[in-house]
Amino acid sequence: MLVLPSYEEVLADKAAFARMSKLFQYETNPFNGRPILQPHGDEAVYFERPALPLSEDEMDGLYDLPFARVPHPSYSERIPAFETVKSSIVTMRGCFGGCTFCSITEHEGRVIQSRSEASVLREVRALTRMRGFDGVLTDLGGPTANMYKMRCKDERTESACRRLSCVHPGICENLQTDHAPLIDLMKKVREEKGVKRVFIASGVRYDLAERSPEFVRELAKHHTGGQLSVAPEHNNDRVLDKMKKPSIKSYERFADTFCRASEEAGKDQYLVPYFITGHPGSSLADTVELALYLKKNGMRPRQVQDFIPTPMAVATTMYYTGIDPLTGEPVPVARELRDKRLMKALVFYWDAQHWPLAREALKKAGRADLIGSHAGALVPPEWATAGAQVGRAPSTKGPPGRASAKRGPRTGKRGPARGYGPKR
Ligand code: SF4
Repeated sequence: MLVLPSYEEVLADKAAFARMSKLFQYETNPFNGRPILQPHGDEAVYFERPALPLSEDEMDGLYDLPFARVPHPSYSERIPAFETVKSSIVTMRGCFGGCTFCSITEHEGRVIQSRSEASVLREVRALTRMRGFDGVLTDLGGPTANMYKMRCKDERTESACRRLSCVHPGICENLQTDHAPLIDLMKKVREEKGVKRVFIASGVRYDLAERSPEFVRELAKHHTGGQLSVAPEHNNDRVLDKMKKPSIKSYERFADTFCRASEEAGKDQYLVPYFITGHPGSSLADTVELALYLKKNGMRPRQVQDFIPTPMAVATTMYYTGIDPLTGEPVPVARELRDKRLMKALVFYWDAQHWPLAREALKKAGRADLIGSHAGALVPPEWATAGAQVGRAPSTKGPPGRASAKRGPRTGKRGPARGYGPKR
């Protein structure tokens, strides 16, 4: 059994809190994680070791239960959250990505638990028999779109492993990354009687997808409804490292393959990249760098995720303590609302509504040189835009960034960014 620093200790000392967080994280492998005890006064909280992953049979047994697939009859009004999931199919649970801002490991585990193909197809058939089903499956996936049936190559190695991610800082050589079972499943589902379209709306892990051009081709040709959401989160390697996310280069390579596959399929479609501002480890200067990257690549985000600390995530410990619990190093953290707004305004460099704050941010970051009418500027000077219409670019030359030629309109149900693909 592992004894954590006591409640009183972590309350009084942030370094003890960070130590607690690290100790906890290293006990999340269900095959070697130990039970945990944390003293609280003269009592203690006992934390059971993580549950073992469900086998394929157990997963099938669970999903074969006779769910009604409708809200409880006590609800008479339309439930928006239900609308987004009523025609989607879960193929697997868990995630071995280990992104520090996410607590899926604590919810569903690090080991992927997949359903059999037969079980998924049974559910698809049941769905096609439902009243009101229009033939469109809105998602086929899970926490991640493309981890179906992926797992450590060797059970003994997996049982002994203490890594927090199978894909960071690089894809582990023991990880089986074959996309063939998923490609087969995608094909069979879309060929089911009564199914007209099958979309994949779960997030694609592009460092894995890079290994399967065939998966990307299938995705672009059959499973994308004009836009595909992906989450590069940032462009700065140091920040991405704090998130345990792959380099932006990996995203760019994926974008290139996806755009080419879309062209080959004769489809005009776009990537919708998501970014996070204010993640621990990301400074105002890093956000200026992100804004310059967005502008250079013709990307105009319409929404950006301001970092939200979620319970038990590693990044939440960074946010609270200012310490990276995994390395013990200090981490810069933006906590003030004003600082968060300044960061957000930079990412909206293209929108006149945000220019006053973006100018303030640039001055604060010592980058007033990026305010101006020259081509390299992020936002125009105040005098040049007096009276400019909110939300529209000024008539001055230069800012804000134009869309890259191929990647089109700012549309979309979630609509956070305009389409993008690297210039070729
Ligand atoms: S050895 Fe590699 S693939 Fe296997 S569980 Fe550990 S990190 Fe994941």
